[in-house]
Amino acid sequence: MTELRGHTRVMAVGEPRVDAFSESEPMKPIRAWSAVLLLLITGAALAQGRPHVHGVAELNVAVEPGRITLQIETPLDSLLGFERAPRGVAETRVAETTIAALKAADALFKFTPAAGCTSASVELSSAALKLGTPDPAEQHEGHADLDATYVFKCADAAKATEVDVGLFDAFIRMQSLKVEVVTAKGQFKRDLKRPSKRVSLVR
Ligand SMILES: [Zn+2]
Repeated sequence: MTELRGHTRVMAVGEPRVDAFSESEPMKPIRAWSAVLLLLITGAALAQGRPHVHGVAELNVAVEPGRITLQIETPLDSLLGFERAPRGVAETRVAETTIAALKAADALFKFTPAAGCTSASVELSSAALKLGTPDPAEQHEGHADLDATYVFKCADAAKATEVDVGLFDAFIRMQSLKVEVVTAKGQFKRDLKRPSKRVSLVR
């Protein structure tokens, strides 16, 4: 069951959720904007108004010629079962195992083979785990998030029509993913719920 905690982070300030691109808007062709730029803008919008719901993570996917970039933002609880620095041997081991699983990009994301995608970089950011350069505003009322950015180089990214996401296999607490896909042809959203793992990258 999904826990609903820490909602004050969004609701208390009384700001509506910021969606840079709502579903109701007509799809505009992407010209001056690169997919990654759109991804960053969307990520910034999410950062301002995102809810922190245990078991639910956000996954942004940007498909560009030659590469695919994926961003995950998840409550730390969904990965570790706690949202602070690990204490003691057992928690430290959980943290180490989790970090190793997050770095295993090729196991977490499997694209259509014809696209020829291979992992190029993984960046993790978490204050509690002392990873990357986390946003100081991340920690709220005992809650904490982890951000991860994955870049895959692809021989022909346009042939990546789907991706199999291994997050539910790797992290038993993760229940659903709010997926946003940006390609040269447009942008759309998908919800992925355990045990499904396949996300279409074409509208
Ligand atoms: Zn939390």
